Amino acid sequence: MLSSNIFYSGYNIFFSILSLFIGIGSVFLIVNSRRFRSMLLFQIGGLAMIFLTYISTQDHLLYSLGLNYRFAAFAQIMTAILISVLWINAATDLYSHQLANRETLTIYTTLALTLCFYFSFTTYNPAYIALLRQMFPLIGITLLFIVGLIKLWKRPSVGYFLLCISLFMLGGKLVVSTFFFEYNRLNLNLFNWLWIYVFTVAIIFMRFDLYKEELARCWNSLDKLNLQIMNMIDLSPFPIVIVRFSDRKLLTLNAKAALLFGIGHKEIGYRQLDDIMIDAQNNEKFRQTVKENGSVDNFDVMVCNLISTAPFWMSASAKLLEYNNEQAVYITFQDIIYRKEREANLQNQANKDPLTLAWNRHYFEKIVPQRISECIKNTRNFSLLLLDADKFKKINETHGHKIGDKVLIALAEICRNSLREDDIIARFGGEEFAIFLNDTDTKTAEHVADRLVHNIAQTEFKGDDDAVIKVTVSVGVVSSEKTASFEVLMRQADEALYLAKRGGRNRVAIYDEQEVKKYQRRKSKSAKLRDVHPIFQNEDSEEISLLGNYESKLLEKQ
Ligand code: GH3
Ligand code: MG
Ligand code: MG
Repeated sequence: MLSSNIFYSGYNIFFSILSLFIGIGSVFLIVNSRRFRSMLLFQIGGLAMIFLTYISTQDHLLYSLGLNYRFAAFAQIMTAILISVLWINAATDLYSHQLANRETLTIYTTLALTLCFYFSFTTYNPAYIALLRQMFPLIGITLLFIVGLIKLWKRPSVGYFLLCISLFMLGGKLVVSTFFFEYNRLNLNLFNWLWIYVFTVAIIFMRFDLYKEELARCWNSLDKLNLQIMNMIDLSPFPIVIVRFSDRKLLTLNAKAALLFGIGHKEIGYRQLDDIMIDAQNNEKFRQTVKENGSVDNFDVMVCNLISTAPFWMSASAKLLEYNNEQAVYITFQDIIYRKEREANLQNQANKDPLTLAWNRHYFEKIVPQRISECIKNTRNFSLLLLDADKFKKINETHGHKIGDKVLIALAEICRNSLREDDIIARFGGEEFAIFLNDTDTKTAEHVADRLVHNIAQTEFKGDDDAVIKVTVSVGVVSSEKTASFEVLMRQADEALYLAKRGGRNRVAIYDEQEVKKYQRRKSKSAKLRDVHPIFQNEDSEEISLLGNYESKLLEKQ
């Protein structure tokens, strides 16, 4: 007969290697899997197995520490149960994506406590305890056999496999019981550990069966939910993509995003967010913001269409959410042009006259000096027109302010339609408009002004009760051939307008220094006369008041 010690050490090595294998296997799985928690349980189980295999085979060590046979058996069974619980939970978690529930853990704890109680208080008979130890493997084998039979019904291959193992174990058990009839070490250690493995595997399979149905239901409802989400995403007017947070892999996208980025549905599995959002530095900032705040709003990103490759800017809003049990980022994209347009509209509102929708005086004074600089740089001419409605007070008096407003709106419209895109027309005061003509010399400016005067004089404006209203305008013209200073040009245009008014209205006057001086002399004479006799204080002697601050600015400069 073989020495039991040889068997004992041989099996000890076998179980140690098996445990080590489980340990290494679980490390491998931890690295390759994101189900970290369950893998860690597997790992702990494996390591505990190595340690306990060693300790529990050292009965003499336990005895030398003053612990008795009963305690050794108790410690072994306790740790066996613990390891089983760890492994069963880990396996269930891996299978079902969720940890074992509290009820299961309660059952295991109760079982362990009952056994503790039994071994501590019920019996002092070592032989009886040894008999119990022998029974555990039998229970494990029987369980495995039953599960094997059940499996045979639906999954024959697994069923056969489990039946074979259980029969093999039973055979082994019988052989050992026959040849090593007394309760020697081999008998105890070998079957205690076999029991742990067998019992664990059996329970894992049983629990898988319990979970399977529930899992199928869960997956089914999850599929339905995903389908609903996808339908909603597809309905969205914006392109939407969902990417995994960890590696930025594209999980899904709606039809609008597929079209925008040129991604076919077959490409979803291997495309990454970085394929469509191409600015790496900006992407990192985007990722960090999502990570820190859980979401991000209107983040400008450079994107591209994979087919046409030309990059373009979009505004991205994102949120960190779950998608199929994974951390994912939902990103919606918005065409930045819409926003820029909105911003431009707001800007326009600040720069435009609300009645006529022409530019306002503030904007004109800001933009025209810039345009003048550009013209000077490119050695191009430019002209300034000042247009004033004639006798507008009378129109208001005759037809009312409301009609007066309508006429002003129509005047601005006629001007806009008679000018080019890059000319600038602004409402400068009540019924006065200033016009900047790009790349235009005096002669052309005169033509333009004539056309305006003519067009307006030809137009019949409608008052209440379809009354026909005729309006004329006077225009003062000046151009860069004389000076390039905006203030001087404004003053000269104003003086030219004065000439047009004095010349009889409904006409154009080009700025002419001599003419202006002549009139100014006459003006001061008539002012003196007005002082002498009130008969000279007629309506025509009033002055055009556009000059205002330009005159004072000029005086300041001098
Ligand atoms: P002229 O320029 O030919 O010398 O005569 P005028 O009557 O047009 O001259 P003036 O500049 O003295 O009068 C401008 C009038 O324009 C005064 C005001 O009643 C009218 N007006 C100014 N702003 C508005 C406006 O927003 N709506 C209306 N309906 N009238 C306005
Ligand atoms: Mg006026
Ligand atoms: Mg006027």
